[in-house]
Amino acid sequence: MFEATPLLFESGAPGRKGFAFPPCDVPETSIHEAIPPEFLREEPAPLPELSELEVIRHYVRLSRKNYAVDVGIYPLGSCTMKYNPKVNEEAADLPGFKRLHPYQPEETVQGALELMYHLERFLCEIAGLDRASLQPSAGAHGELLGLMLIKAYHASRGEEGRDEILIPDSAHGTNPASAAMCGYKVVEIPSDERGGMDVKEVKRRVGPKTAGLMLTNPNTLGLFDENIAAIAQAVHDAGGLLYYDGANANAILGISRPGDMGFDIVHFNLHKTFSTPHGGGGPGAGPIAVTKELAPFLPAPTVERRPDGSFYLERHRPQAVGRIRSFYGNFGVLVRAYAYIRAHGPEGLRRVSEHAVLHANYLMRRLAPYFDLPYDRHCKHEFVLSGKRQKQRGVRTTDIAKRLLDYGIHAPTIYFPLIVDEAIMIEPTETEPLEALDAFAEAMIQIAQEVERDPETVKSAPHRTPVGRLDEARAARRPVLRWRPPAEDTAATQER
Ligand SMILES: *Cc1c(COP(=O)(O)O)cnc(C)c1O
Repeated sequence: MFEATPLLFESGAPGRKGFAFPPCDVPETSIHEAIPPEFLREEPAPLPELSELEVIRHYVRLSRKNYAVDVGIYPLGSCTMKYNPKVNEEAADLPGFKRLHPYQPEETVQGALELMYHLERFLCEIAGLDRASLQPSAGAHGELLGLMLIKAYHASRGEEGRDEILIPDSAHGTNPASAAMCGYKVVEIPSDERGGMDVKEVKRRVGPKTAGLMLTNPNTLGLFDENIAAIAQAVHDAGGLLYYDGANANAILGISRPGDMGFDIVHFNLHKTFSTPHGGGGPGAGPIAVTKELAPFLPAPTVERRPDGSFYLERHRPQAVGRIRSFYGNFGVLVRAYAYIRAHGPEGLRRVSEHAVLHANYLMRRLAPYFDLPYDRHCKHEFVLSGKRQKQRGVRTTDIAKRLLDYGIHAPTIYFPLIVDEAIMIEPTETEPLEALDAFAEAMIQIAQEVERDPETVKSAPHRTPVGRLDEARAARRPVLRWRPPAEDTAATQER
């Protein structure tokens, strides 16, 4: 299935070309006049010379070795790898959106401002909150902005001494990281036996030092925290604020609203819940929605509407925490989210969530006889299995994940959340057809049976992928990000 691909730099031949420029119609300056001699190469760079066909074949071959939502189920928990409808791409590609310049005068970008204005209203409605900022470029960026608002809010009331943020031990790693980055001390709250936050601990740890609490609900175990009302009450009574990590809001659209649960700030990941393709590193968007009390602290500019119906950017925001990004956010991502929300409408969004929850529960029940299920409750958009039983046979969760690749299926998230031993975190999403859910379940069941029968096959997987097991630690510490000619590469390797 996978043919050997020659490296781009090692193919081609001198003199081959994949481009043709029109004749130059401006005066040509010699390179020696334009660039100071010390910046000029002495020898031409050793670049490959290839025809267009060779370049196309190279990239198409590479793309065929890749895995994508458009190829098959992508059940990475806490990532919401759902299908991104192509009509959203077309909307973002409309020249009237795509070719805008951020410095264009307001009267020439009324459509873009109108879209941002309404997207803000939609997100506020979904969150159950009052105002939003579309600026943050990612979930973690939204968290940082949200925490900056918490800080500004307490400072405005003369309560600078509040320097603690409560975070459950099941939290996504970005939560404590964002809190620490904003200068807060993190107070970790243990989970109880039902997988929720231990309310007694929350009550014990809140007080005059509490700036706020960060929570994902449903949490990273895919479980809805049933004590949220009591938790919100305890934090508010102590003078703190509640931050909702809504990165994966797939379970709650049109069903429950963080604002109604008592949260003061929410971030959404438009690149997860609202269907912008992601996984390749961006661009994304992590807008935050907030209560009226926090709205004055949102960064400038905001999009406002005049009585005559026209839109403008309000830059005068004296209490704003300051800019956290250039211009107005990742506008193309905002267009996709707008298109997605408009295409579904309120009823459609609710169905998205109902199906996401149904799919997760279906898979959880199909797999529960074969793997340990540490929290045996109805889940929301995702669920977490444990590979403890398989570990007794010498097979680790990472082996199961690698073996899935042999079945042509992307692995789920593994070893997260940290509170589950040998965690396997599965988020099927609402967009998968029943057949894809079943094929995933069958593969997982077959692997569980292989673990009993023939653990070696699982432990040495993958057997059918272009590359086998990689040295992940080395890849992270010493990434090889550019090609070197073989001679230089050997020398560089010896240097290390
Ligand atoms: C993905 C995710 C984040 C971080 O979002 P980024 O856009 O990657 O910064 C935060 N919290 C949860 C629960 C997530 O799943």
